[in-house]
Amino acid sequence: MESAVDSKLPSFGDARRLVEEYAITLSPTQPELLSLLESCGLVLAEDLRADRDFPPFPRSTRDGFAVRASDVKIVPAHLGCIGEIKAGASCEQSGVVVRQDQCVEIMTGAPVPEGADAVVMVEFTNRSGDAVTVQRSVAVGENVVAKGAEAQHGAVMVSRGTRVNHTVVAVAAAVGSSGVAVFRRPRVAILATGDEVVDINLKPGSNEIRNSNSYSLAAQVQAAGGDPMILPVARDEPGELALLLRKGLEADLLLITGGVSMGKYDLVEQVLASLGAQLFFTGVKIQPGRPVVFGEVRSGETSTPFFGLPGNPVSTMVTFQLFVRPVLDALSGAKPQPLTFAQAQLKSNFSTSTGLTRFLPARLAGTQVQPEVELLPWQGSGDLMAASQANCYIVVPPHQERFCAGDGVTILLL
Ligand code: AMP
Ligand code: MG
Repeated sequence: MESAVDSKLPSFGDARRLVEEYAITLSPTQPELLSLLESCGLVLAEDLRADRDFPPFPRSTRDGFAVRASDVKIVPAHLGCIGEIKAGASCEQSGVVVRQDQCVEIMTGAPVPEGADAVVMVEFTNRSGDAVTVQRSVAVGENVVAKGAEAQHGAVMVSRGTRVNHTVVAVAAAVGSSGVAVFRRPRVAILATGDEVVDINLKPGSNEIRNSNSYSLAAQVQAAGGDPMILPVARDEPGELALLLRKGLEADLLLITGGVSMGKYDLVEQVLASLGAQLFFTGVKIQPGRPVVFGEVRSGETSTPFFGLPGNPVSTMVTFQLFVRPVLDALSGAKPQPLTFAQAQLKSNFSTSTGLTRFLPARLAGTQVQPEVELLPWQGSGDLMAASQANCYIVVPPHQERFCAGDGVTILLL
């Protein structure tokens, strides 16, 4: 049953939309020129254009014989081999021209010579000296990529706003860009709060816990192309909190963990409000992460977005993925990327209560024809061990209570 408090909160979909709509109003950081490998994980600030036709010549995709398709319409066809072209050979230098009933031995990646319009795979030929018997017909253009078919000289091959991964690196390398212009990593301040939270280098007292959130968030920020800046842990005391929040608001984005629930010492919202923060939402109908807060602080022309993420470690991780990512994408110069949902078959029964969209730690396995997912046993949103074994979350819609083995369920990939 949905509580009266919950009924006022936005649904997961509405909150996510709100964040995405906010994100597209943000300006990216300044571009900088980085070497190709340094640019990995960052976002292109320039288009990558073809510096010549791709491929630069009609390219054979097979080892075999370059032929005229019309000569092998009726098979077996008997052709005379007049030479060989290997990858790296120049068509002009070879000077080979394939005329009627002739062929040329050709290797994968080599230029198809003048006169030939297709390549027959070597597997469908027999050769004796220069006599080649072709066993199978080919259509015009078969096993050949025409000059410029992938990209013509000057065409945009990868556009500005694309995050650089190994495939983009390959394109940059192929067009001869050893350095690329990318948007600078946005600086993301991370502020953990709580009297019980101690630095990881200190031995915690029996009543204390180590600050794992600042590090899990820093890792997520880094993986998302941001530059994390971990601030000292703030006590649950308004003065100290205000001081550290001000420091954090100097960054491009501020992430706060803990102190956003309904407890007496959950001070983050009230201290942010005293700093002039505008709050876009304070809570979303999700679990884990229900108390998540999103807003911004304006100062003159600039504004700094912030998120108050619930302190339970799994809530912190999940709400980063659900809500922080689009803002980080936008500050990095990319369009906010959609979440990666998939479908899998449930391995065992389970039931939950209704009212919230739930993201439950789970393990995806199975085969390509039947992906299977199993809920991990967990002790709730403080359970780091369950989270560390998960490779996805099962997404439970707010109205569904019972799930049976064999049901198709939606999962969110990590
Ligand atoms: P809070 O959101 O401040 O009410 O905290 C909820 C739970 O998360 C409490 O059990 C905290 O001890 C735990 N927690 C808060 N901050 C951190 C942190 N930085 N690292 C690990 N656990 C935390
Ligand atoms: Mg706290």
